[in-house]
Amino acid sequence: MLPSRRHNLAAHLTVHGGLPVLSRDALIREIDAAGLRGRGGGGFPSAVKLRSVAPGQAIVIANGCESDPFSTKDRALLDLAPHLVLDGIQVAARAVGATEAFLCLHEGNRSVLEALAERRDAVPVKLIAVPPRYVASEETALVHFLASGDARPTGKLPRPTERGLYGRPTLVQNVETLARFALISRLGADRYQAGRTDLVTVTGAVSRPGVLEFPAGTPISTVLARAGGSLASRAVLVGGFGGTWLPRALADPVPLGKEPGLSSLHLLPDPGCGLEVTARILSRLAAESARQCGPCMFGLPAVAGDFAELLAGRDSTGRLARRLPVLTGRGACAHPDGAARLAASALRVFAADVQAHLTSGSCRVTAGAA
Ligand code: SF4
Repeated sequence: MLPSRRHNLAAHLTVHGGLPVLSRDALIREIDAAGLRGRGGGGFPSAVKLRSVAPGQAIVIANGCESDPFSTKDRALLDLAPHLVLDGIQVAARAVGATEAFLCLHEGNRSVLEALAERRDAVPVKLIAVPPRYVASEETALVHFLASGDARPTGKLPRPTERGLYGRPTLVQNVETLARFALISRLGADRYQAGRTDLVTVTGAVSRPGVLEFPAGTPISTVLARAGGSLASRAVLVGGFGGTWLPRALADPVPLGKEPGLSSLHLLPDPGCGLEVTARILSRLAAESARQCGPCMFGLPAVAGDFAELLAGRDSTGRLARRLPVLTGRGACAHPDGAARLAASALRVFAADVQAHLTSGSCRVTAGAA
């Protein structure tokens, strides 16, 4: 899926061949059979989302923003295989009957510009620069930004697939997911599944950080070994800023590709304090919220403050136990849910460090930069 050098159109067609024209039903059937789920973090079944786009004058928005600092897989895909993503946009547009398509990015991308110049697509793709803020790439935030210039989420209902940009049915789909549409439409579900690979960004205590590609089902320990992971590191953060800490020794039963959040791994710096890394991430998540719902305005700063208290040796575990459960499912988007998941997993996995901070004021290790 990810070539070692950038594919221009000729190289892309040599490797992948032309894009077949499938009917809406045939394409959705193959995507369904392939079991594809959104690769942007939500993990929603792609076939269900495609089916939910109301027919008529639809719009496709390709989300290439990739706001999570621990993930660069989408950027790698756009840099090295831009035509696979652009093919996927055309496949999606055909499936939902779209007449317009947008590709949203946080930063300029020369590879995409060059690829667009090489193509004559049925549905033209407009490149859009989205403000580089964490929640600006949430799907309702993208629709809102395109409509009004305000990149803040607008809430769960109505879904963009029913009434999105300009009141028209709108499919917002992550660029890796779209690239997989292009692969499935060429290969069919069975061949796609047989050769399926996963893209994973590996960062933290590794000597070779970056985006790696593995056969689906590869154990996390194999990925970390290939990336030169430190054997002394105790824990790994799966799924980025809104992800879940796992003890390194227990990470292996979770193979890549079985959950939506497994496209990035951050190995705890060694020596490193998991509470300190988590506190830094929580502070950033609190600062990055759109501050328009209670859980973000009040809950995230309070939880970040509770972690700062823990680090300083003051017991805030009681407050955290009360606060974390009420963050989940209360915002207009899933931003607070991710923060709550991250914080709860840190308290579980670093329970011994919590005790060390409370009894001696420190676990006597210093974390690497988050
Ligand atoms: S939950 Fe937070 S980030 Fe999401 S819309 Fe509400 S204030 Fe904004």
